[in-house]
Amino acid sequence: MNIVITGGAGFIGTHLVEKFLEKSHNVIVVDNLLTGLKANLDNFTKSKNFSFIDLDVQNHIQIDGEVDYVLHLASAASPKAYTDNPINTLKAGSIGTINTLGLAKAKHAKYLLTSTSEVYGDPEISPQPESYWGRVNPNGVRSMYDEAKRFAEAAVSSYNRIYNIDSRIVRLFNTYGPKMKLNDGRVVTNFIVQALNGEDITIYGKGNQTRSFCYVSDTVAGIIKAMDSESNEVFNIGNPNEITILQLAETIVQLTESKSGVNYQELPDDDPTQRKPDISKAKNILDWKPDIGLEEGLNKTIGWVKANLN
Ligand code: UDP
Repeated sequence: MNIVITGGAGFIGTHLVEKFLEKSHNVIVVDNLLTGLKANLDNFTKSKNFSFIDLDVQNHIQIDGEVDYVLHLASAASPKAYTDNPINTLKAGSIGTINTLGLAKAKHAKYLLTSTSEVYGDPEISPQPESYWGRVNPNGVRSMYDEAKRFAEAAVSSYNRIYNIDSRIVRLFNTYGPKMKLNDGRVVTNFIVQALNGEDITIYGKGNQTRSFCYVSDTVAGIIKAMDSESNEVFNIGNPNEITILQLAETIVQLTESKSGVNYQELPDDDPTQRKPDISKAKNILDWKPDIGLEEGLNKTIGWVKANLN
């Protein structure tokens, strides 16, 4: 197959490219390297099945020849990255989604959008099923990301209804693992770097907010199952193992055998208080569930951070 992956130089995108190349597909990555890294693609450039287009998805995407799959991942995705790049984030989710849908339409390709648990905002119910409409601040500090992804979901749904685009949407919950950027402010990498350096762990707020962390190989397996399936549904892809941020800090300190203490800092505005996916739909329709437990995944990630810490 010929597979176009926008955002293929990013954290999750890189793992996805690797999987598709392993299966001998042709992969074309479209990425503007705003948050993705060219170095992530270095392992692939040897492959005759790989090509890279240095392009922002807010521009017209010209691909010659047939395309079977379009996967639209391109977007700044960490709170630091999207608040640092608000306009680009809005355009990647809106114009970028329309452009990638246009590509899928022109090529009669299957389409997948990576959406986010952020579409649930600060949820009133837990766990969050796909049927929950969310509670999002439409103009708050996270709105450039949350609303861009909500627009993107609306665009995919409309193209599916009007043009019969063979589309699916996956809502990714917090994902972690090797190849995360060490400086993009996400909690898992922040805590591991701090623990390894013996610095205090920065806990925002009291640390009683919860997240559910999914190891990247599980997330990628879920994306591929959704893409391969005949279903045009929306799927939560995440690990329902919910923990508080304080528990995460304690686990990382213990696994790294660190002596780090804790440094409590102000909680950012609109930081969601809880996050836990209901994954029964992905289990039932895609036969997918995560396999890697938190300690196993953290140990792999710690090993990778150690090897990449300068
Ligand atoms: N967080 C923290 N310390 C850090 C980084 C993040 O306490 O150094 C908290 C943050 O406030 C949030 C959670 O960890 O409640 C997850 O943050 P992240 O930026 O990884 O992603 P989010 O799930 O908020 O999009």
